[in-house]
Amino acid sequence: MLVDLHSHLEGRVRPETAAELASELGLAAPEGGWERAIQLDGPADLTVYLAKVAVTYPFFRSPGAARRIAREAVLDGAAEGLDYLELRFGPATHADDEAGLDEVISAVAEGMREASAETGMPSGAVVAALRHHDREANLAVARAAARAAGDGVVGFDLAGDELLFPDLRAHVEAFQLARAAGLGITCHAAEAAPGPAAREAAELLGATRIGHGAHIVEDADTLAWAADSGIVVEICPTSNWYTGAIPSVDRHPAPAFRDAGVRLVLGDDNPLQTRAGMPRERELLASVLGFTPSDLAALDRVSVDAAFVEPAVRRQLATRLT
Ligand SMILES: [Zn+2]
Repeated sequence: MLVDLHSHLEGRVRPETAAELASELGLAAPEGGWERAIQLDGPADLTVYLAKVAVTYPFFRSPGAARRIAREAVLDGAAEGLDYLELRFGPATHADDEAGLDEVISAVAEGMREASAETGMPSGAVVAALRHHDREANLAVARAAARAAGDGVVGFDLAGDELLFPDLRAHVEAFQLARAAGLGITCHAAEAAPGPAAREAAELLGATRIGHGAHIVEDADTLAWAADSGIVVEICPTSNWYTGAIPSVDRHPAPAFRDAGVRLVLGDDNPLQTRAGMPRERELLASVLGFTPSDLAALDRVSVDAAFVEPAVRRQLATRLT
């Protein structure tokens, strides 16, 4: 079973689509072509990694382009064999005002809805607030996400540079608003910052899922808290390797999480940049990180339980559990 609970829309722009959109939008082609501009050759650091993701940002300024990219992302996920795909994106990177936020969000939701209808694979959009944006900017994003709740948007996230912007207090109200609208809450945390950042995200923002959380395992108290609290950690092994968070895939903390009893789900983060989609990530868990069939079955059960889906979709996914 393949349930992708951590994947960025900006990490799913097909290079050939980028080339077509660039000529439509009058954007200059990067030296070496779009494929080279988007894809990483191998492990790098977070700055290089994020620069590869940022190459796609100009496309999202056109709602038509955003809709096409979202539609193709869901089509590609279905073609990969996914059972469910949650796609997150940061609309404030792509729009200047609140009306613009609504427009980007509805374009993405529309593209995803079309492709889900075509393929039968359910999908949901997660709107991401950004750490480097101020309280007002993220409140505007939360209001726009709340308006689209039940209309394709299923969750709310916080992304961005955790080392430069570790303080979550400015974003508390945005997350309160998102929760009140019924959105599921996840937060990129303890990806770059020390483990306790994950607990702060749960306690201050109401996150029930933590993106990456790679440093949780280095802090015994936080690891114990993670196991006891039932928080779900979204792991993305290849991404952590490519951003330099871990020195190699076999050093990924997934086995330590599993042994401590932390609930895990899987994601591919930015699969076009890393050239590693969900089938590869799952294969790594088994072949490199020692996950047994029963470990993977447990991950599937948590994935179905933790996905930000309506009850009918959850029941449908649950029928596929082994
Ligand atoms: Zn991410």
